Amino acid sequence: MGTPLEPREAQVEEVTDRLRETYPDSTISLRYSNRLELLIAVVLSAQCTDERVNEVTEELFETYSTPAEYANATEEELADAIYGITFHNNKGGYLQGIGERLVADHDGEVPDTMAELTDLPGVGRKTANVVLQHGHDIVEGIVVDTHVQRLSRRLGLTEEPTPVRIEEDLVGIVPREDWQEFTHLCIDHGRATCTARNPDCGDCVLAAICPSQKGDSPVDLASGEPW
Ligand code: SF4
Repeated sequence: MGTPLEPREAQVEEVTDRLRETYPDSTISLRYSNRLELLIAVVLSAQCTDERVNEVTEELFETYSTPAEYANATEEELADAIYGITFHNNKGGYLQGIGERLVADHDGEVPDTMAELTDLPGVGRKTANVVLQHGHDIVEGIVVDTHVQRLSRRLGLTEEPTPVRIEEDLVGIVPREDWQEFTHLCIDHGRATCTARNPDCGDCVLAAICPSQKGDSPVDLASGEPW
């Protein structure tokens, strides 16, 4: 079993250093060319792969390029346009609602506060954080997606069970200037090595400091269950 550094700030620093060396170009993998496209892409990416979202948005963004165009479409038209995305019917409704709200309440602009963003249909704190960070250069928190959640628990950075409480723990130990990068490093490592079902602990740069290391530790701390 790997031995995590104490205190947790030291563990975070070592994790970040090792992952930064492994993934020097770590950043968001959704494709977009403006804030509206970013917002739409992030909403579509909930429980869907970025790869699939990028495939679908290539054509979507050619057809719909303004909030008014989303507002004036029907939910069915938008659901058809994003067919292949998980929960496309619900998300079609979100896109239409977002278009309406941006036109009615925000002069057609994507707002730049957590409160205004999370007021939009289909936009939770995680989505809002991504839009603030990459669309407005405002880093208000740490985006906790499924990879950040899993890795943070496996690496002993938190024992909390929910994204909101995990974020509260992480903002206390990750240096503020690393908040954005930390998410992308966890996502890259979660995709490449520390996958949900079959992590490759034998070929992991974090194994020596990971208390979940498979084969050595009997327990996956992400779930608290035996491997
Ligand atoms: S791949 Fe294994 S050793 Fe590496 S961080 Fe994940 S659980 Fe720990």
